Amino acid sequence: MRVKLLLKQHVGAPSSPMVSVGDQVERGQRIAKREGLGANIHSSLSGEVVAVTDEYIEIDGEKTDSFLPIEASDNLLDMVEAAGIVGAGGAGFPAHVKLNISLPGGYIIANAAECEPVLHHNITMLETEPEKVISGLLHAKKMISAEHAYVAIKAKYTQAIKAIKKVKDQVGGFELKILPDMYPSGDERVIVREILGVELEPGALPSVAHAVIQNVETLKRIAEAIDERKPFIDKDMTVGGRVRNANSGVVFLDQPIGRRVVELIEECGGYQEPHGEIVLGGPFTGATGGEESIITKTMGAVLVAMPFPTEKSKMGLLVCECGASEQRMRDIATGMGAEIVAVEHCKRMTEVGGRVRCELPGVCPGQAEKILLMRKKGMDAILAGTCGD
Ligand code: SF4
Repeated sequence: MRVKLLLKQHVGAPSSPMVSVGDQVERGQRIAKREGLGANIHSSLSGEVVAVTDEYIEIDGEKTDSFLPIEASDNLLDMVEAAGIVGAGGAGFPAHVKLNISLPGGYIIANAAECEPVLHHNITMLETEPEKVISGLLHAKKMISAEHAYVAIKAKYTQAIKAIKKVKDQVGGFELKILPDMYPSGDERVIVREILGVELEPGALPSVAHAVIQNVETLKRIAEAIDERKPFIDKDMTVGGRVRNANSGVVFLDQPIGRRVVELIEECGGYQEPHGEIVLGGPFTGATGGEESIITKTMGAVLVAMPFPTEKSKMGLLVCECGASEQRMRDIATGMGAEIVAVEHCKRMTEVGGRVRCELPGVCPGQAEKILLMRKKGMDAILAGTCGD
């Protein structure tokens, strides 16, 4: 097996290689060190370094059962930093920075919303390894000196809730909180609003409400770092869409980071024809990828779409903060052969610090006036990325 470990798969600077071509490395060995705000990178295979470039380190080897452990420490944050843990839900923010805050009386919340359609690797993982997530949650609670620890999950995930309750009976120290079954209830501001009853301003961080929110896989990786001294070298994923045997999504747990996405598609049986583009991430917020795209610490899904329908019309784009980005929507419209004549944002979107953000995520208004505006500009078909009406 070969893997390419990207030097930048997180928020912050790219990591600096610590190995050269021809070196033998062990699974778990640090091969690139953190630079500034960033994260260490470790080999996901035991084998030989076959390439080192400005963008990646390539290793030819095998996924062994054992790994080289990180150094033990009484300082939990140091272990999280050493393990190279970043937000596995897509954000990629270094966990040792996010958790370097003191919130006495505050909250640590595990985000188990699993909001996007098709994706279910987080819920499957919670059903099978709930004790890891809870261990990570309790470690994080200690790191930030929080008083409360919650697991935020939708009521429909009954098996996962059952598994979490079992751990709760054994270890305690946290509570279950139910999220509404809507998109985007995994948005941090929505979780703070629904669980803590605090309406954060657009752009405000959960820490304003004395809370830190961590994706459940990030907490699993934190537990592995502290309890097993395992660095962040494997990733949980969903593969789905126009893929044989994976229409409604197949879960791959603990895939070596750095594998090519086409390998997972092939392991499912290959494409279901006809098929269109490969999307990396969920159907709402994913980005266009390709067969050679590489699994990173933040990638949650590999989805294969239908071919784009042909729509050679004058198209208007209606953009939502929680849906596809304007660029992604432009790519889709262009792929359809449409001419883009107008772009409007949902009327709840407002500019904060140079970024447009939603004032009230998930409480979505009608969009009639935006549609009329785009009609005036000659639109005769619409591509809507908005969550609601
Ligand atoms: S209010 Fe608008 S921008 Fe906000 S989540 Fe709903 S559709 Fe998206």
